[in-house]
Amino acid sequence: MAHFETDVAIVGAGPSGLFMVFEAGFMGYRSIVLDALPQVGGQLAALYPEKPIYDIPAHPSILAGELVEKLKVQAEAYAPHYLLGEPVLSLEGAPREFMLRTASHVVAAKVIILAGGGGVFTPRKPTQLTNLETFEDSCAVLYAVTNKKALAGKTVVLAGGGDSAVDWAVELASMCAHVHVVHRRTDFRAAAATVQQMMDLAAAGKITLHTPTQLHELVGENGILQRVILADNDEKLKEINAERVVCCFGMAPNAGPLGSWGLGWDKGKVPVDRATMGTSRKGVLCIGDLADYEGKVALILTGFAEAAVAAKTCMSIIEPERKFKVQYSTSKGVPAVGATGGAADAGAGVA
Ligand SMILES: Cc1cc2nc3c(=O)[nH]c(=O)nc-3n(C[C@H](O)[C@H](O)[C@H](O)COP(=O)(O)OP(=O)(O)OC[C@H]3O[C@@H](n4cnc5c(N)ncnc54)[C@H](O)[C@@H]3O)c2cc1C
Repeated sequence: MAHFETDVAIVGAGPSGLFMVFEAGFMGYRSIVLDALPQVGGQLAALYPEKPIYDIPAHPSILAGELVEKLKVQAEAYAPHYLLGEPVLSLEGAPREFMLRTASHVVAAKVIILAGGGGVFTPRKPTQLTNLETFEDSCAVLYAVTNKKALAGKTVVLAGGGDSAVDWAVELASMCAHVHVVHRRTDFRAAAATVQQMMDLAAAGKITLHTPTQLHELVGENGILQRVILADNDEKLKEINAERVVCCFGMAPNAGPLGSWGLGWDKGKVPVDRATMGTSRKGVLCIGDLADYEGKVALILTGFAEAAVAAKTCMSIIEPERKFKVQYSTSKGVPAVGATGGAADAGAGVA
């Protein structure tokens, strides 16, 4: 079991958690960031890395994956330590002496920041398919498009009827050999304008819509997908050639252990005091999608602002005698990358 210690332990490496590293660092504190996923970026990296985001201030358009990269670079000034690929399982202790545990790490921290978003995401799977695992292993069945170039020139089945399926149908239609959309209902729960674009592409022969229809069977050998058998509501079967299936049934957020940490957990959200981002447990703060208060708007930019508020609260816990003064980055500057003793240098390490 590897032991680490830090000032601020951040649970969740989504955009809120990544910007928290910067805000805590700007205030003078070292961070360790823990995430269940093997990569940083939260929903942006796991669900839509190649989609453009239009509502990040000063970025008229930025790919989600690019935003994650920039946040990571911005955080580097404060040399965070990342512990990825394992969910945080437990939280014990009190302010200035908290203890977080994953399956193979123990992190001692003065303050805990929960930036867990919608929880640990696991894709909803088509449970009726018996041989799913073989095709998952060979990446013939995917649950998110993380590299759209890998689908270029292929015949792709998109299963689902929400924003993800419809957005990707429109986006992939121009680069794939053909796109099939399979949805168990006739109406789509997606933005009307995008549904219309999809209908237009279907009318132009670029997309084939199969509704109301479900995936019934995957056919292929050694993980190489050749055909997909579809079933309509009357169990009538139809076979289509396809090389990839992207299941866009959404991700089931799994709260993990947070519900048992005495935080007033309510329907997947943690109530916080908006003035401090403090939860009902002293020294445990919460930001981003996970944090809830009256009037909350769960957007990326909201999490950024909440990180600044939380950093101020970190100061009041770590150095109660220190007086808070707004500092401008233009005046103070940030350390050159590599100049700060991050968590790994300043006390954290393998015991
Ligand atoms: C398709 C789609 C498009 C979107 N488009 C926009 C948009 O255009 N603009 C916008 O502002 N927002 C958009 N959003 C919403 C945006 O993605 C979220 O508001 C944002 O991701 C929230 O960031 P976060 O850091 O709070 O949480 P998340 O991004 O959800 O990250 C939380 C992280 O915490 C980790 N975690 C949770 N529990 C644990 C645990 N116990 N142990 C370890 N790790 C844990 C998770 O694995 C995850 O990586 C979109 C969302 C989707 C799904």
